[in-house]
Amino acid sequence: MLDSWLSRLGRGVLFVLSGPSGAGKGTLCRNLLQQQAGLQLSVSATTRQPRTGEQDGIHYHFLQHEDFVRQIEAQAFLEYAQVYDHYYGTPRTHVVEALQAGRDVLLEIDIQGALQVKASYPEAALIFVAPPSLEELSRRIYTRGTDSPEVIRKRLALASSELTYIDRYDYCVVNDDVEKATARLQAILHAEKCRIHRQ
Ligand code: 5GP
Repeated sequence: MLDSWLSRLGRGVLFVLSGPSGAGKGTLCRNLLQQQAGLQLSVSATTRQPRTGEQDGIHYHFLQHEDFVRQIEAQAFLEYAQVYDHYYGTPRTHVVEALQAGRDVLLEIDIQGALQVKASYPEAALIFVAPPSLEELSRRIYTRGTDSPEVIRKRLALASSELTYIDRYDYCVVNDDVEKATARLQAILHAEKCRIHRQ
């Protein structure tokens, strides 16, 4: 009995981070990966164009639309979704192999994808990163200065609807202060490593 529990505890944990654009997921992921030795980031595939400084295979696997569709048909994705007019997906093999080898994996994906992961892999820990308020979120998106007014409007509208999904997640971390939010995420990571999953 103990052996069987210990072998389950030896499996890696799948952490799924999502939240509205501007909540600070990217910074929190970078902090976590720096501070948490052994945590692996899953590199997603996408059909969107690389932004300045983004490298294929490091930030994303940049695919043509036809190649992405072929991979969907081959069931190569653990989950996939259309976000802001482009496809995004998590390559299945890398994640499954890492978890089986006892390594923890971090996915930074949208809400549609997170809910798909939870449906097929209930042990996954879903973490919602929330802004302290919608006013603060809108201030962050405006001061970032990377988006046109039209894109900002779209992102804010999507953010309000995304906040209604918080109760489908296992945890909610409010990013009011980056250091504090990172510490909360680390506490979740440690707790999840010790969790007993009932069938
Ligand atoms: P961006 O284009 O700004 O890098 O990402 C846009 C959105 O796509 C973000 O909300 C990000 O979390 C989400 N995203 C990135 N990779 C994946 C993925 O593999 N699957 C899903 N479902 N969403 C993703």
